Amino acid sequence: MAVEYEKDPSVSNLRNYLRIRSVHPNINYAECLTYLRGQAAELGFPVKVFEPVPKKPVLVMTCEGQEPSLPSILLNSHMDVVPVFEKSWTYPPFEARLVDGVIYGRGVQDMKSVGILYLEALKRLKSKGLKFKRTIHLTFVPDEEVGGLKGMGEFVKTEDFKKLNVGFSLDEGLASASEYYHVYNAERSIWHITMICPGKSGHGSLLLPDNNGEKIRYIIDKFMDLRQESKKKLEEDSKLTIGDVTTVNLTMLNGGIQNNVIPEKLTVSFDLRLATTVDHEEFENMIKGWCKEAGDNVSYKFDQKDPYVSPTKVDDTNAYWLAFKGTFDKLKLPLKVLTFPGGTDSRYVRERRIPALGITPYCHTPPQIHEHDESLKAATFLHAISVYEELIPTLANV
Ligand code: ZN
Repeated sequence: MAVEYEKDPSVSNLRNYLRIRSVHPNINYAECLTYLRGQAAELGFPVKVFEPVPKKPVLVMTCEGQEPSLPSILLNSHMDVVPVFEKSWTYPPFEARLVDGVIYGRGVQDMKSVGILYLEALKRLKSKGLKFKRTIHLTFVPDEEVGGLKGMGEFVKTEDFKKLNVGFSLDEGLASASEYYHVYNAERSIWHITMICPGKSGHGSLLLPDNNGEKIRYIIDKFMDLRQESKKKLEEDSKLTIGDVTTVNLTMLNGGIQNNVIPEKLTVSFDLRLATTVDHEEFENMIKGWCKEAGDNVSYKFDQKDPYVSPTKVDDTNAYWLAFKGTFDKLKLPLKVLTFPGGTDSRYVRERRIPALGITPYCHTPPQIHEHDESLKAATFLHAISVYEELIPTLANV
C-alpha cells in the first residue's frame, strides 16, 4: 500500500511542493513561483504574477470559462508556512517523508496540500475534457501566516484583482477530527489593543496617590471578567464553538525599571477576537468607559483593529452555497458550518463583498496546523481530490 503512494503522481506533486522551504521569516518566493509555473504549464493555464508589494508575489493561473463575462470562481491558497522547531520533529519538516501512508511536512495541512488539491482535481477534469461555464482563477498568495496584509490584503485593493471579476471564493478551513467536514463562512474581528496606565512616579515605600498599579488592576479585571463570561457561554452551550464567542487573552505586560521605584507608566496588551455578533462601536465605548473608571489619563491604542466583516450567507439566497452544499450532499459527506477561530485571507475577500467559504476537506483528521510533526494521510489527501473533482465543476457551472 505504502509503495503505491510512493508512485502516486498527486502525492509526489504534493511532496515536491512541501520540500520548498517557503518558511517565515524573510521568504524568497522564487522557488514557489518556478514550481507553480510548471504546474500551470502542465495544465495549459496562462499565468500572471503581480507584486502589489515588492517581493510579495501573487501568482494567478487562469482556466478560462465558456462564458468569461460571468463572475469567476477563485481558488485561493497561501504559499508560506510557519517556522518549525526542527529538533521536536520526528522527521525533517522539509523532506516530506512518507511513512506508513502518512506524509509528514510543514504545510501539509496548512495549506500547501489544499493548493495541490485544486491543481490535481483540475488535471483530472481536464483529462476528461471537461469545460466550465465560469472562469476559474487559482491564486497563490504570500504572507498569509503573518496576517496577509502584504499579500491578499493588498492584492484585493488592486485593479488587477478587480479584473478577475470574482463571484465566489474558496480558501482554507481546518481539518476535522470527527466524521463531519467543517466549512467556515465567517471570521471574528481581530483587535490587538494596548491599555496605557500612567500615574505618579515615586518611592516604593510610600502610598502615593494616582497609582498606576491600581489602574492597571482595574483594567485587567474588566478584561478578565469578559474572558470568564465567554468561557461560561461556551461551557453552558455545547452547540457553541470557540469562533462563536469573543476571546480575550492578556499577551503583554510592560513597565518599571527598578523594584523600589513606582514607574511613570504601566501597559497591558490584549489579543481580542470579537464574535460576529458584537457591535464594534458599543464594544469600544465599553473600553472607553473602563478607562474613565480606572483613573486619570488611562488611554488605549490599537496595534490592529479589524473592521466588521459580514459572514458569507449560507442560505437559499446564495447560489454558490447551494452548489457547494449540494455537492457534499451528493457525495454523502456530512457538513458543519462554523465561524473560523483565527484569521485567514477570506476576510479580505469578504470585505470586498465577495462570498467566500473556507474548507480544508479532511475529516477524521485532527487539525495539526502550526504543530510539530504536521501530517496528513495520503489516502485522506487523495480522497479530497475526488471531492474537488465534483465541487469545482459544480461551482464553475452555477
Ligand atoms: Zn493557512
